[in-house]
Amino acid sequence: MPGTRRFAGPSDLHLHSSRSDGTEPPAEVVAAARAHGLRTVALTDHDTVAGWQEAAVSANALGMTLLPGMEFSARHEWRSVHVLAYLFDPDEPSLTAELVRIRDARRARAERIVANIARDHDLSWADVLAQTGDGATVGRPHIADAMIARGLVRDRGEAFDGILHPRAGYYVPHYAPDVSTAVRLVRTAGGVPVIAHPTTAGRDRMMPVSILEELISEGLAGFEIGHRENVEPGKTILAEIAARHDLIVTGSSDYHGAGKPNRPGENTTSDEMVARIIAQGTGIAPFYP
Ligand code: AMP
Ligand code: FE
Ligand code: FE
Ligand code: ZN
Repeated sequence: MPGTRRFAGPSDLHLHSSRSDGTEPPAEVVAAARAHGLRTVALTDHDTVAGWQEAAVSANALGMTLLPGMEFSARHEWRSVHVLAYLFDPDEPSLTAELVRIRDARRARAERIVANIARDHDLSWADVLAQTGDGATVGRPHIADAMIARGLVRDRGEAFDGILHPRAGYYVPHYAPDVSTAVRLVRTAGGVPVIAHPTTAGRDRMMPVSILEELISEGLAGFEIGHRENVEPGKTILAEIAARHDLIVTGSSDYHGAGKPNRPGENTTSDEMVARIIAQGTGIAPFYP
């Protein structure tokens, strides 16, 4: 009977592997989470489900619960918005078509960024491919890794603060659906959409509250409030909106292996909120141990 199976906390619902811009394969990400004391995790690679199978096998071997997930690239006007999606059907046609479109656009855009950088620096598309796992969703972090290999920068942070910064003159945006389309696609596939790091400083700032409330009426399930990049005033506003609409709130690490300082379990999601995500997700079941 559904609902009788139990997961155990602590839970971290935002982790990346080398199927997108994390530095470790899915099995190692799950093992790193276990080593940090976590019992339930979601693998949330950018715009792909390619790591689910490997992560599920690893979670099972370690006695952990895996929530299949993804970080879906979206936009609101000029803002890049990331939508964490949990427990959606990975074969739902309208969602899978959109993911193919985004991944293709990301690749073409990364090639254009590299062509721009190559005007001034010794960097080639082959350098980037050498840093990108087979079939992985390509992003600026892979360009950063190629720059590190070329000795242009010391780490990803330096690359993002410099050459990869939108104001450095090499940046190209990529296609992504409007956030309201993303929320609808995730719900259509039986998934649970949660806005990732909704209130980061500088980078993209928070969407207006009126837009957040529109998204809630369109099916948005909640906010990732526990995230190291969220700013305190924004967190207070989000917590108030979440309480008023009885939304899900999560906390997670956004682990990228060696690609970011974030460590598994630095933020966690309460058992109550994990249970609510599982109750709302109808596209695929969690992988229980
Ligand atoms: P993109 O989606 O290709 O524009 O690249 C954005 C990705 O780069 C995000 O998913 C972040 O994980 C990563 N990122 C952004 N800023 C940094 C940083 N300062 N250091 C390392 N990774 C970063
Ligand atoms: Fe990332
Ligand atoms: Fe993100
Ligand atoms: Zn992320």
